[in-house]
Amino acid sequence: MSAQEHPLGISFEFFPPNTEAGKEKLLGVRDALAARNPRFFSVTYGAGGSTQARTTQTVKSVRESGINTAPHLSCIGSDKGAMRELLAQYREDDINSLVALRGDLPSGMGGIGELRYANELVEFIREETGNHFEIAVAAYPESHPQAPSFERDLENFARKVKAGANLAITQYFFNPDAYFHFVERAQKLGVETPIIPGIMPITNYTKLARFSDACGADIPRWIRKQLEAYGDDSESIQAFGEEVITRLCERLLDGGAPGLHFYTLNQAKASLKVLDNLRA
Ligand code: FAD
Repeated sequence: MSAQEHPLGISFEFFPPNTEAGKEKLLGVRDALAARNPRFFSVTYGAGGSTQARTTQTVKSVRESGINTAPHLSCIGSDKGAMRELLAQYREDDINSLVALRGDLPSGMGGIGELRYANELVEFIREETGNHFEIAVAAYPESHPQAPSFERDLENFARKVKAGANLAITQYFFNPDAYFHFVERAQKLGVETPIIPGIMPITNYTKLARFSDACGADIPRWIRKQLEAYGDDSESIQAFGEEVITRLCERLLDGGAPGLHFYTLNQAKASLKVLDNLRA
């Protein structure tokens, strides 16, 4: 079954651009991806609320495509009053989906705030707004980098889902077995919500290696070695990346993954190529 035919379908994530040129470019990317009829778009939120205005603005412009668009929302370093205000604004703007996160506190930035973990944010959103929002939360098939153990992280994940999440989106990974293992273990803890794999297209090795070290995503040695061997040959990196990610998506969908969420990095081409390959 192709991703497009799947009941939960595909979704695409953007970050809020900070230049006029970036905003302009995102409109083209949005339109190219909207043509694939995604279930939703989502827009990231800077740690500690640092992009709040830009996230809101980007959500508005992305929604003009007619595709449901979910702002990400992180609670660390914030207080309940600020969260309440933002939720009220989203309701007023007729937004009905959110990606609820703890986030990471930027170094040198004040205290943790009133909501310490994503499960507390999900609970707070439900207390304040009932079932108005569809809430997605983050999942880590290879464990969150700060988690004391896989088991503990899994329990924390299950707690967060049971606080009222409707779906989960995973951190990206390149080993489909990590995803299937995580889903199976989560289901044993009573998690019934869909867990959608997050897909990171491979287009640039240096950036990918940096991101992956920071977020704890494992780049298997065979992928790392092959990408290193290509050096500055970006055409070969992209062709290899396209093949690796297409195969990953095929295995995920064949194994029953309920959709695919693409980390687009505000680029359309790599995600579209993978989708075209899947359709073929
Ligand atoms: P939590 O679920 O709160 O987990 C964080 C850590 O605390 C884990 O180690 C967990 O095991 C532990 N933990 C959880 N609950 C408890 C508890 N009750 N008691 C004790 N320990 C607990 N970051 C951004 O800044 N902006 C974004 O827009 C953004 N979007 C993302 C989207 C997706 C799909 C994903 C996967 C990640 C995203 N991130 C984003 C990154 C995310 O903010 C970081 O990974 C952050 O460190 C954890 O956020 P969380 O919501 O997963 O936290």
